Amino acid sequence: MVEGAAVPARVIDGKAIAAQVEAEVRAALAKLPFKPGLVAIRVGNDPASEVYVRNKARKAKELGLQGTELVFDASMRETDLLDEVRQLNSDNNIDGILVQLPLPKQIDAGKVIGAIDPAKDVDGFHPINVGLLHLGRPALVPCTPAGVLRLIASTGVDITGKRAVVIGRSDIVGKPAAALLLRENATVTICHSRTRDLPGVVREADIVVAAIGKPRFVTVEMIKKGAIVIDVGINRLDGKLVGDVDFARVRDVASWITPVPGGVGPMTIAMLMKNTVTAAQVRRG
Ligand code: NAP
Repeated sequence: MVEGAAVPARVIDGKAIAAQVEAEVRAALAKLPFKPGLVAIRVGNDPASEVYVRNKARKAKELGLQGTELVFDASMRETDLLDEVRQLNSDNNIDGILVQLPLPKQIDAGKVIGAIDPAKDVDGFHPINVGLLHLGRPALVPCTPAGVLRLIASTGVDITGKRAVVIGRSDIVGKPAAALLLRENATVTICHSRTRDLPGVVREADIVVAAIGKPRFVTVEMIKKGAIVIDVGINRLDGKLVGDVDFARVRDVASWITPVPGGVGPMTIAMLMKNTVTAAQVRRG
C-alpha cells in the first residue's frame, strides 16, 4: 500500500444487522405463548406514510407478530382518533400502538401520542418514555436512534469516553440519539441550525450521527480521521436516495460509515419489531 494513502472506512451493513435483530425477534417470539399484536394507525393518504405503515404491518406478519394496519379518512376528528387509541389501550391482545406522523392539521399529534398507554408506545414518543430515557431508566426507545446505537455497537468499538456529536435535535432522532449515547457514557454534543462553527465542533467527534435532512451536508473536512459516521438522513437528489453525509469522500477518513440506502434505514422497522416484543414481554410477562 502507498504510504499515506487513504484506507476506506469499513461500511456498516444495516441490512445484515437488521436481519440479526429480526432473528432475535423470531427467537423471542418462539418463547412466547401468544402472538404479540402491533397496530399501526394511519390517518389520511400521505403517500410516504402509506408505504411506511404497510411495510411495518407486513414485517410484523412476516416475523410472526399480529400486525394490523388501521386506516382512517383524512377528515377524521381528533376525538374519534383519541377514542380509537383508548380502545386499543384497553385491548389486552394489543401490545404495540403506533400512530404514523404527520397527522392531518385538525389533529394535535402531541395529544394523540400522549393518549397512548406508555406500556404500548412502541415508537417511544410518549412523554413518559422520553422522560425514562433521559433518566437512564428502562424505557421503550424510539426506533431509529435505537437502530443507530445498534449499528455503532456492531463495530465493536467501545463508546465509553468517546466524543460524540449528534447533528440535529429532533424529538424523533437527534435528542433520543444523544440520550442513548450519553447512557453509553459518551461525551455528547448536539448541534443544530444555530450552532456556531459546526464544522469545528464535528471535527472533534469520534462518533458523528448526522440527522439533518440535507443532502451531503457533512463533508470530509468536518470529519476527524478514524471517526465512526452514522448517516440517518434520507434525501432525494437528482432522483437518487442520498444521506446527510458525503459518503464517497468521508469514507476515506472515517473508520466506519453507514451507507444510504442500506444503513440506518433497514434498522428502524427491525427495532420497532423488537420494541413490540419487549412491550409484550414486560406487560404480559
Ligand atoms: P427534522 O425534524 O427536520 O430535524 C432536523 C434537524 O437538523 C433540526 O434539529 C435542525 O436544527 C437541524 N438542521 C437543519 N439544518 C441545519 C443546518 N444547516 N445546520 C445544522 N443543523 C441543521 O428531521 P428528523 O426527523 O430528525 O430527520 C432527519 C433526517 O433523518 C431526515 O433526512 C429524515 O428523512 C431522516 N430520517 C430517517 C429515518 C430512518 O429510518 N432512516 C428516520 C427518521 C428520519 P433546528 O432544530 O435548529 O431547526
